[in-house]
Amino acid sequence: MDLSRFPRRRYTVGPTPIEPLHNLSKALGGPSLWIKRDDQLGLFPGGNKTRKLEFLVADALAQGADTLITCGAVQSNHCRITLAAAAKEGLKCRLLLEERVPGSYNPKGNGNHFMFELMGVESIEVFPGGADMMAAMQRTAEGLAREGRKGYIIPGGGSNAIGALGYVACAQEILAQSFEMGVHFDHLVVGSGSSGTHAGLVAGFHGMNAGLPITGVGVSRDPENQEPLVFKEAQATAALLGVNTPVPRDAVKTVGGYWQPKYSLPNRRMVEAVQMLARLEAVPLDPTYTGKAMAGLIGMVREGRFKSSDQVLFVHTGGLPALFAETEVLTGRTPVVDP
Ligand SMILES: *Cc1c(COP(=O)(O)O)cnc(C)c1O
Repeated sequence: MDLSRFPRRRYTVGPTPIEPLHNLSKALGGPSLWIKRDDQLGLFPGGNKTRKLEFLVADALAQGADTLITCGAVQSNHCRITLAAAAKEGLKCRLLLEERVPGSYNPKGNGNHFMFELMGVESIEVFPGGADMMAAMQRTAEGLAREGRKGYIIPGGGSNAIGALGYVACAQEILAQSFEMGVHFDHLVVGSGSSGTHAGLVAGFHGMNAGLPITGVGVSRDPENQEPLVFKEAQATAALLGVNTPVPRDAVKTVGGYWQPKYSLPNRRMVEAVQMLARLEAVPLDPTYTGKAMAGLIGMVREGRFKSSDQVLFVHTGGLPALFAETEVLTGRTPVVDP
């Protein structure tokens, strides 16, 4: 698995830290928990999309693009980080936002909204939930072409085989760190959404024959819908890499039940997880992804899914700005629903 044959831009200096979560491990009385701080990746503030964009933007530049076009939910971290990469590269950026929760787009909104404006987005177009975002991005690209410009379309979440290479690189980084630290990880837990992060890790660890079990916590789908998506993406990534043994279907495992009532809407276990990590470890999670993914990890520890001797690594995928868009719920001033 030689990633050096793919063009790549670099947006982070060095590896992100892997830190022990001593207080959380003690409070839960289960296995030893660790955290991979991908919330400390580059690009204002970074997150998992930073790693994907290293490969996607390199591809855009190789194709002579002058504008990045992408889509996401109204508080999309992916859109923010794509815009940040565009700013760094001297490219323009057009964002297409999908209102998955009706009425949720607020042009004066906080969090990522504010950052879209601050970083000088060229345009924002808002579409109703369920709109065909790929077709809309293609129309945007055609409009640019008529002006003699060249757009590069990045799919939602940066999740295609090229973007997932960022998490193949992360898998290599984790194994190198594990060797340096003298810690053998028995299990990895990560949020699973548009799937590129989870799929890149599956393809990467599989390609290195690491035998590390990975559990994705669905942030928008239960296993019957999420796993086929991740599996397909992992297969495409392995094919792009030229890995010659097929990715086994059972390398893709997810848990459901933590994302309800709906993608991006809060629930009680998410609030508990965000508060626990803040109060015990001073680690900021976010309400849409890492709060729900951590709730999944906490839930699995409580169910006794791990041995007390296990070393379990949680991948923090970022999302900081959205934390500041949900202060009422996260402080407990506004009550939320189960689960
Ligand atoms: C996008 C995102 C995820 C989900 O990653 P996918 O590759 O889309 O599955 C997780 N955490 C954060 C903070 C994100 O922005």
